[in-house]
Amino acid sequence: ATARRSPEGGLIKVESDSTKYEEEGIRAKFTDRGADVVKDADGKFSVKKTEKTYEFYTKSKVGKVGLMLVGLGGNNGTTVLATHLANKHQISWRTRDGVQQPNYIGSVVRASTVRLGIEPETGKDVFVPLSDMLPMVHPNDFVIGGWDISAVPMDQAMLRAKVLEWDLQRQLIPHMEGVKPLPSIYYPDFIAANQADRADNLIEGDDKQAHLDHIRNDIRKFKSDNELDSVVVLWTANTERYAEIIPGVNDTSDNLLKSIKDSHEEVSPSTIFAVASILEGVPFINGSPQNTFVPGCIELAEKNQTFIGGDDFKSGQTKVKSVLAEFLVNAGIKPLSISSYNHLGNNDGKNLSSQRQFRSKEISKSSVVDDMVAANHLLYKTAAEVTAETGEVTKKGEHPDHIVVIKHVPAVGDSKRAIDEYYSELLMGGRNVMNIFNECEDSLLATPLIFDLAILAELLTRVTYKPEGEAEYKPLYSVLSLLSYMLKAPLVKPGTDVVNSLNRQRNALEGFLKACLGLENNGDLLLNTRIW
Ligand code: NAD
Repeated sequence: ATARRSPEGGLIKVESDSTKYEEEGIRAKFTDRGADVVKDADGKFSVKKTEKTYEFYTKSKVGKVGLMLVGLGGNNGTTVLATHLANKHQISWRTRDGVQQPNYIGSVVRASTVRLGIEPETGKDVFVPLSDMLPMVHPNDFVIGGWDISAVPMDQAMLRAKVLEWDLQRQLIPHMEGVKPLPSIYYPDFIAANQADRADNLIEGDDKQAHLDHIRNDIRKFKSDNELDSVVVLWTANTERYAEIIPGVNDTSDNLLKSIKDSHEEVSPSTIFAVASILEGVPFINGSPQNTFVPGCIELAEKNQTFIGGDDFKSGQTKVKSVLAEFLVNAGIKPLSISSYNHLGNNDGKNLSSQRQFRSKEISKSSVVDDMVAANHLLYKTAAEVTAETGEVTKKGEHPDHIVVIKHVPAVGDSKRAIDEYYSELLMGGRNVMNIFNECEDSLLATPLIFDLAILAELLTRVTYKPEGEAEYKPLYSVLSLLSYMLKAPLVKPGTDVVNSLNRQRNALEGFLKACLGLENNGDLLLNTRIW
């Protein structure tokens, strides 16, 4: 997972007239094939095949990429910097099991492979690292910086986080002691009151416009001081409460910008960071569950044609849940209830022990099985419900009961324990209970996701497309739903369906990388193995 390779790609060469390797990029033709399905009055489905051809152009030059984390001094922030430094300087450390080498295990980009095709002579599958599909930044090459409301320097913050082994921390201290997070914005109403004693590194005043300008300036300065070609900003700070969506305040981009000017109380710190990134033309990813992307913020990204992605890292329980729920429903088994209990002892857990912040997490975790359930109307019926007073008919889908509980237990530190019960209906009225006890080091799961999100977001800024026959190449749509694999409550293009299925999310990502090379993604048909 640590092997270094030039970011300019070069491992894969597609031999086809529709894929051209040019001096500055890869130009590829790709036909998107699908089906339009219409249900007629008799309940019959009429299917029409569709196809549309696009040209993708991916710039090859990655350049020098900056990664700015909001919440740099937290458990995730310190672990990201420490992992990057340990890999970059090849620092190994002793544990009771022997010598441990640094790596990027858990990163889909750096530690997973894609099936490219078969070797004609042997008929065997050929897999390549996902990071070799297209030119991508290597995580060792990021320039990492960012903000925190806590002034503690990064070496001390790493010790405070208690995530990494002492023999590694000891060697990293000299690399991290000089690094201090930039002062940040603190609106106490948005995070738990129990965080107040951390807040000693603040941008002064309560003028939100001045705060926005300050953050924009920080991004610009980071870029010029480090001679960067591009920057990605990512929120891994505390979970905030939800912002209320108020007409006239945050519903449109103009209203949101005006509300920032007026220092309106419903504009959260994370939204200020998102707006600052959008206005600076850099991608912004939200790794926490709150609704940073109020409608006005999404509209602003659209207007500026910049990129946003969110919400909430999908690191542990939810990832397993989206896999298990899909397995059950696709196996024709009917989950009746899913009950999830979590306890964790880190500062994230402390912040989430406050009701309004927990509520953000609860919402984010709640909808992860919705699309699997909605996809199977044989198991989950849709019934018409009539409102007595108005006679209005609405269709309501059956749904498994689903609860999520989170408790703060300081003793377990950064280890998060998740207990999930899946209670399902089997054949002939039978019942099945499955219990999963998932114990994981929270930040060691989140850190590789942060690298993946930043690497892929940067890549997607270099991809442009045009429908065949049109003259102009355009950037992708602003909301980067291709990042859904790493996110619990994926933000998607308004009006389109959220896909929570982990399999489908991964297929979409693989399919997209292949499309940029002009390749099809129908590898699992394996027709050659089914015919004579
Ligand atoms: P943490 O509490 O250790 O770190 C958060 C940091 O953000 C703290 O250092 C805090 O001082 C800082 N902060 C708070 N408000 C800030 C602001 N306005 N500006 C700048 N800094 C600010 O938490 P963590 O374990 O690193 O998790 C970070 C976030 O990621 C949390 O919101 C958590 O819910 C989310 N998340 C984590 C995981 C995971 O670790 N597995 C999974 C999903 C989501």
